[in-house]
Amino acid sequence: IRRSQLSVDDYVTGILAGDITILSRAVTLVESSRTEHQVIARQVIEKCLPHAGRSIRLGITGVPGAGKSTFIESLGMHIIRQGGKLAVLAIDPSSERSKGSILGDKTRMELLSAEKNAYIRPSPSAGSLGGVARKTRETIVLCEAAGFDHIIIETVGVGQSETAVHSMVDFFLLIMLAGAGDELQGIKRGIMEMADAIAINKADGSNVVKAQQAQAQYTSALHLFPPSRSGWTPLVKTCSALNHQGIDEMWNMVLDYVSLTKGNHFFKSNRNSQSSYWMYETIDEQLKHHFFHHPKIKELLHTYQHRVKHNETSSFEAARELLDLYFQNIDK
Ligand code: GDP
Repeated sequence: IRRSQLSVDDYVTGILAGDITILSRAVTLVESSRTEHQVIARQVIEKCLPHAGRSIRLGITGVPGAGKSTFIESLGMHIIRQGGKLAVLAIDPSSERSKGSILGDKTRMELLSAEKNAYIRPSPSAGSLGGVARKTRETIVLCEAAGFDHIIIETVGVGQSETAVHSMVDFFLLIMLAGAGDELQGIKRGIMEMADAIAINKADGSNVVKAQQAQAQYTSALHLFPPSRSGWTPLVKTCSALNHQGIDEMWNMVLDYVSLTKGNHFFKSNRNSQSSYWMYETIDEQLKHHFFHHPKIKELLHTYQHRVKHNETSSFEAARELLDLYFQNIDK
């Protein structure tokens, strides 16, 4: 491994040649908060963009323990056996490298991580959801330019990150369990409404009947949602990721979806709307970031917060003064 500085063209050439080491280093630049890294990363992304986009992007969510990593390992091996190249990325704004379970962790997907046609990248370490999501979206571009024609984005089905994932994938899959207490398992209605399919996992052993019952329940629940613009009717299927049962069917369903939506042009129009969505999201995120990292704001934010807490000034007045200060000192 060359540890020397690489030029933008070195990165681009390496990525287009499918060099995983260089791809990883480029992703590290994308994730870095240092300005000089960001400058290079942006140029690399722009140059990779014309070579990106030719993939199927699949989002996967589910509560911890639902079987996401087992599922991704099984599905991923299926994709690779069919000649595909798969990148697994993750969004978990709450994760920190040092602790807890890190989505997309290689040790959770042993077989896949040994495959040369698989690239597994854990969630960027903790930051704002907007920042983490943007980095993941940029990483998709790099992975596609490196020849990965299948992208899986994994997230935990407990927070807000589903919306972010949903807005960067073609197909959104919710993994659930049967009979785990209440039938909704804390999965919010909004998340179910985003799903193109629900997989009832762990449909094995004594769980099979319960899984089939859950399948019927969720199928009728999904019918209550208004039809999607994609022309696709969300499906509920059972599977056992552990025993590799129902996984091929799940993949065939994704392929059916892709051919339906390419046929009716939703696939492309959806990606175009996603691009404009991300333009606005990025502006939002960068403005906030710039504001909160401005030296003047950093210096005074705490004082203003204190005043607001003690009713010495209203929250609106404090916000207005801080914004004024920011705009007056924007270049400093
Ligand atoms: P995640 O937290 O959603 O990524 O879940 P994991 O993939 O780590 O799985 C959590 C636990 O459930 C592990 O012990 C798995 O072995 C087990 N598991 C996953 N899929 C299945 C399945 O299809 N059947 C059974 N019986 N266990 C499973």
